Amino acid sequence: MRENPLYHSLIEHANDIVMVLDTTPLEEGGPLIVYVNPMFETLMGYRKEDVIGQSAAMLNGPETDRHARYKIRKALREGNEIRTEIVNYTRDGDPLWLDINLFPLHDKQGKVEYFAAIERDLTEQKRMQARLEKMATIDPLTELPNRQHILKLARREFARSQRYHRPFSILMIDIDHFKNINDEHGHAGGDLVLRELGKLCSMELRDPDVLGRLGGEEFVLLLPDTPKSNAVYVAERIRQRLMDSLIQVDKKSIRVTASIGVAALDSKDEEFANMLDRADTAMYEAKQAGRNQVKIAA
Ligand code: GH3
Ligand code: MG
Ligand code: MG
Repeated sequence: MRENPLYHSLIEHANDIVMVLDTTPLEEGGPLIVYVNPMFETLMGYRKEDVIGQSAAMLNGPETDRHARYKIRKALREGNEIRTEIVNYTRDGDPLWLDINLFPLHDKQGKVEYFAAIERDLTEQKRMQARLEKMATIDPLTELPNRQHILKLARREFARSQRYHRPFSILMIDIDHFKNINDEHGHAGGDLVLRELGKLCSMELRDPDVLGRLGGEEFVLLLPDTPKSNAVYVAERIRQRLMDSLIQVDKKSIRVTASIGVAALDSKDEEFANMLDRADTAMYEAKQAGRNQVKIAA
C-alpha cells in the first residue's frame, strides 16, 4: 500500500477510518494494528504512534456489543469479509458508533496477508435516532410512555397473557377535580402536579409494571402477571400514597386524590380495548361514588 503513492494518498484523504491489522495473534487480545489513516487519528483521538503495534481490542469498551465482537473474531479466524456495527472508544473514553467493513487482503499466492477495516462514524446518526424514538414514545411533561406507546405495550402484553393464559390487570387512574388545580394554581401548577403524580405512582411499581400517560390527567398502569386481587391491592396503595403526599406548588402544599378503575383480563376479552373500556367504566363508578376510591370492573 505504502509502495503505491497514489493509493496511499487516497486512503490518507478518506473521510472514513481506514485501518490495517496483522493476521496474528487472533486470539490473545486480538490482531495488532499496523496502519491507521489520519481520519482514525481525528475521530479516535489517538496518534498513530499510540496504536500501531497495539491490539485492536484496545478500542473496545463496556458498551461494545459482545455479539459483534464474536462475529468479527469469527470472520478474522475464517478469513472472511464482514460488515457490522460496533461501539469503539476514543482516547478520551467517549463511545463512537462505527459501521465497520472488515475484509482480508490477500498476497499474490492468495494467502491472507492483512485485514483491512473501513469504518464510518455513525454516532451522530445513532444519537438522532435515539432522540426521535424518545420523542415518538415518551410524553415530554411526565417522561412516561405516551398514549400511543403505552397502548402498544398494552396490546403486546394482552396478546402474551392471552396466549400463555397468564393473569394481566390494568389500572385506570384519573386525578380528582383536576380542573380546580388548574384554576387555582394555573396551567403550570397543574403541569407540576401531573409530573409529581407520575413520580408518586412510580414508587409503588415493581419492575415489570409500566405506567403511561393516556392523555390529560389520565394514566394507565399495566400489571403483567398480576391477578385482579393483587391489582386491587396495588390500586389501594397508590390511592393511599397520593392521599398521604403533599405536593409543593407555588410554595403551597396541596393534596391530590385520584379515582382508580381496576380491570383484569377476562376470557371474554377479544382485544385490549375491551379491558380498557371496563377499567374506564370502573373508574367512572369511582367518581360517581364520591372520588378518591378504587372500583373493580365486573
Ligand atoms: P374529575 O374529578 O371528574 O376527574 O374532575 P376533573 O376536573 O379532573 O375533570 P376532567 O377530567 O374533565 O378535567 C381534566 C382537566 O385536565 C381539563 C384540562 O384542562 C386539564 N388538562 C388536560 N391536559 C392537561 C395538561 O397537560 N396540563 C394541565 N395543566 N392541565 C391539563
Ligand atoms: Mg379528572
Ligand atoms: Mg379526566
